[in-house]
Amino acid sequence: MEINLISDTVTKPTSEMLDAMMAAKVGDDVFKADPTVNALEEKVAELFGKEAALYFPSGTMTNQAAIKLHTNPGDQLICDKYAHVYNYEGGGVSFNSGVSCKLVDGYRGTMTAEQVEHAVNPPDFYHSPLTSLVCIENTTNKGGGACWNFQELERIKSVCEKHKLAYHLDGARLWNALVAKNETARQYGALFDSISVCLSKGLGCPVGSVLVGNKELIGKALRIRKVLGGGMRQAGFLAAAGIYALDNHVERLAEDHKRAQEIGKILEMLSLVKKIEPIETNIIIFEIDEQKTSETAFLEKLKQKGVHIIGMGQGKLRIVTHLDYTDRKHEAFIGLLRKL
Ligand SMILES: *Cc1c(COP(=O)(O)O)cnc(C)c1O
Repeated sequence: MEINLISDTVTKPTSEMLDAMMAAKVGDDVFKADPTVNALEEKVAELFGKEAALYFPSGTMTNQAAIKLHTNPGDQLICDKYAHVYNYEGGGVSFNSGVSCKLVDGYRGTMTAEQVEHAVNPPDFYHSPLTSLVCIENTTNKGGGACWNFQELERIKSVCEKHKLAYHLDGARLWNALVAKNETARQYGALFDSISVCLSKGLGCPVGSVLVGNKELIGKALRIRKVLGGGMRQAGFLAAAGIYALDNHVERLAEDHKRAQEIGKILEMLSLVKKIEPIETNIIIFEIDEQKTSETAFLEKLKQKGVHIIGMGQGKLRIVTHLDYTDRKHEAFIGLLRKL
């Protein structure tokens, strides 16, 4: 039995999801004439209490479009040093928008309002880039699935208002945070100017992300998406998977979180494991005791038993639980870990 825990993006559509996809009514979405894409956009906008939404092929493209919308070339955005927009989008911030990042040395990918305030360049000091945007990530990917304290997000919002900065949320994994912290999409919709969410992570869709915002912003986003090559034709087949996932795969994220906790408990007992980061959602980051075995030897040993996990660099290993990591697989993996 192969157990793939490298990411929650390795899931394949369930047969129910495939049925929903095959039954989708479609049209040409570049002419805004795909009824299923339109329905998904309305559904997500409504969930967040926002005026409008736009369907994108990837989370990277939604974030890149948002950054383009909120900035001008030469500007600077503020984000944590672990941010996906800074580390994992191929340098798109500078490539697409001509923008630099002011990095904050936060905790597990989260920042404080004081740190953000401190990172804002004075607007009349023309030697420095103009700060125009703050990017938040929830849950944090490189930060190990950490969730933000909502009050801190409200405090950062005040900093944005004071300095007239746009406020964007990279919510690729926001669904995990909503379930783990018992929060609502509406709370987030009320706070941010734009939010990107992924349907292809924890929710188990093959493709898809959505950007939400007000009508004016999303109207402009349509042009940016076109420029980035993200206009799709009969995309309703894919959007149908998103509608299905929103109706059926959000609450169940609690199961992924529970299994992650259980894996953490076993890892804690292993002498090979030196350190485990706090587990808040479905991501487990831990370090191997290099005195006892090497990272590569540990990965190889698991691989021989059909288990795939991933190295994050700097001695950190990562396990991510997901929709296709069933009870049967969980029992097998726990049994195997106990014997290490
Ligand atoms: C996965 C992810 C993205 C990008 O999504 P893709 O669909 O892979 O482009 C953006 N932000 C975060 C936090 C992510 O985890």
